[in-house]
Amino acid sequence: MTDSDNPNRAIAQALNSWRQAGLDQAPKYSPSMEANLGQAEQGAETPSPATEIIQNVETQVPLVTEPVPKTTQPSLITTPNPTNASSSFNMTDNNLIESSDPVEALAMLQKRVAQCRLCKVLPETRTQTVFGVGNPRARLLFLGEAPGADEDAQGIPFVGRSGRLLTDMIEKGMKISRDEVYICNVLRCRPPQNRNPLPEEAAFCRPFMEAQIKIVNPEFICCLGAVAAKNLLQTDTSIGKLRGTIHNWQGYKVVCTYHPSYLLRNPPAKKDAWIDLQLLMRAMGLM
Ligand code: SF4
Repeated sequence: MTDSDNPNRAIAQALNSWRQAGLDQAPKYSPSMEANLGQAEQGAETPSPATEIIQNVETQVPLVTEPVPKTTQPSLITTPNPTNASSSFNMTDNNLIESSDPVEALAMLQKRVAQCRLCKVLPETRTQTVFGVGNPRARLLFLGEAPGADEDAQGIPFVGRSGRLLTDMIEKGMKISRDEVYICNVLRCRPPQNRNPLPEEAAFCRPFMEAQIKIVNPEFICCLGAVAAKNLLQTDTSIGKLRGTIHNWQGYKVVCTYHPSYLLRNPPAKKDAWIDLQLLMRAMGLM
């Protein structure tokens, strides 16, 4: 197995390179990162400049160890996830932030994502990073694959044809507003020619994905397509076999269905996607 095939190894490389470089000026990926990783491990006793940056950020954004109160009006779609409410998630142990205010935490994370140049190619080919959109306290989070051309141009996930279909799935199918859910992707930069994310790209971007999920702290996650499902659940199982079951990822209930772009290419599969949405709606108490 190569390092590219080992997401944990790639994440460790990414995190150490971030720490060495100062989090706001993360370097491009290069083979020298491997050597840097070894140096970082050997020099673990010495606080790095990034540690000071982390401490500064933690001072500005207090970490929380108690359940985060969600202050929006109760609704069927917006409720805290008690399973994860007390989970510890902070800059020190995962290089990312938990603020008492998810709006503030997401804004800080988005700023960092906009500066990210960890992947080899994507920072050169993207128009801009595409972070996420929706209710920062959503009960349901949709996870897609990566931005396409429309998303890259507008900086918002799921705004093209597949985005319109996703909106219909949410609003006409599930009878809830798109504004009530949160939507993000495995990658925050568009791959050239809309190719699938490379394993190392998904690994580099995973801390951002996990941070978004944990800041929003939804009760349910709906993976849209094989790339999202396999990356989140860290499995090689096909999307066909992942459908029909409510999976557990770190306490979050996960339902997998087809990506809207696949449904546009294969309209007969829409009936299967509707079955998946009904499974999700039943689990959420929406039908
Ligand atoms: S895809 Fe993610 S990790 Fe790669 S450059 Fe973009 S933001 Fe950074």
